Amino acid sequence: MAVLEQTTSQKAINLENKYGAHNYHPLPVVLNRGEGVYVWDVDGKRYYDFLSAYSAVNQGHCHPKIVKALKNQSEILALTSRAFYNDMLGKYEKFACEYFGFDKLLPMNSGAEAVETAIKLCRRWGYEKKGIVENKADIIVCKNNFHGRTTTIISFSNDPIARKNFGPFTDGFIKIEYDSIEALRSELESNKNVAGFLVEPIQGEAGVIVPSEGYLKRAKALCEEHNVLFIADEIQTGIARTGKLLAVHYEGVSPDILILGKALSGGAYPISAVFANDEIMEVIQPGTHGSTFGGNPIAAAVAIASLEVVRDENLSDNAYRLGEIFRREINTFIENSNLVLKIRGKGLLNAIVINDSEESETAWNICLKLIDNGLLAKPTHGNIIRFAPPLVINEEQLFECISIITNTLREFENLTL
Ligand SMILES: *Cc1c(COP(=O)(O)O)cnc(C)c1O
Repeated sequence: MAVLEQTTSQKAINLENKYGAHNYHPLPVVLNRGEGVYVWDVDGKRYYDFLSAYSAVNQGHCHPKIVKALKNQSEILALTSRAFYNDMLGKYEKFACEYFGFDKLLPMNSGAEAVETAIKLCRRWGYEKKGIVENKADIIVCKNNFHGRTTTIISFSNDPIARKNFGPFTDGFIKIEYDSIEALRSELESNKNVAGFLVEPIQGEAGVIVPSEGYLKRAKALCEEHNVLFIADEIQTGIARTGKLLAVHYEGVSPDILILGKALSGGAYPISAVFANDEIMEVIQPGTHGSTFGGNPIAAAVAIASLEVVRDENLSDNAYRLGEIFRREINTFIENSNLVLKIRGKGLLNAIVINDSEESETAWNICLKLIDNGLLAKPTHGNIIRFAPPLVINEEQLFECISIITNTLREFENLTL
């Protein structure tokens, strides 16, 4: 049986290797089913999913309500393009705008597309409302950001692997230190051509970097002072992940432009959106921007269902409460650990830092061992492991996962000492 099991997953891996571009380096586990906090591999082994598809699956795998919306709408009308109206898009736009507190949204599909949309919207606002000289609008971004993979977006990344041999790059971005109000102030004071400040409330891909308390609030105030749009990329942090509906809510900040993706669909469909109030969004006119699939009826139905699940199941509160427990328990482990330096995060977006170099294989090897022990997580950088389970996880399941994690870490503790 074991031999047969192995060939099955090995076959799947071989197929991807042979016929797929090698743009990812997955952990060697082949999944074929998911439900709630669990996924199963082709051999029927069950795992806790502690990545949640980079926080796209906040509502849990195959949430029945979301699946139902997807199924129902796909049998009625899937795609019209925006050449015609459909009877779902407006309903979704009203629902989502009221949900997040904005006048309007612009529907797209992937996260990167929504970031691109926000950049275009911000620059156009810069020229038409702020009066920046043509082609001079700058957008301030932060070092070690992750906003996606398009050419414009990697133009302001400082990850050498994401950039190498993909140039020439797009101008008009200024990189400053994350979590530095002084860096933002000095750039805003010396540069009159800044249209926007694009920031992740917590830098997810950089390793769950949580800025100092008050940073976002002060950054927003500085932006207001200089007539610069505060653009929050909440594609990973938004929709209850950090224990609030949006991570900026911890500091009472309302972004001028809000970017959402990932959990906007509960992982069922690629759905992203850019939100802004009328005085900003009105710079977008017919023909200036679009997407064939953006705002399609299935996406509209799925997004409504996904947001309803977040509200009806109190996922923000659950993420907040269980996040506190998770960090408390892991911190107790860390007190007597030479292997783990710290845990950081908010709600159920957390990461541990392993006491080893960024080039080391330790975090990867820990993740391999976690697979054996029934939990899936992935390193971000060589020495950081992110833990982000679906937000539908309950306390009992969380404690079981804490045991799996600490028992696994203990095995490495002994190895490295
Ligand atoms: C995942 C992510 C993106 C890109 O989303 P895609 O759907 O992969 O294009 C952008 N910004 C942040 C913060 C993300 O986590």
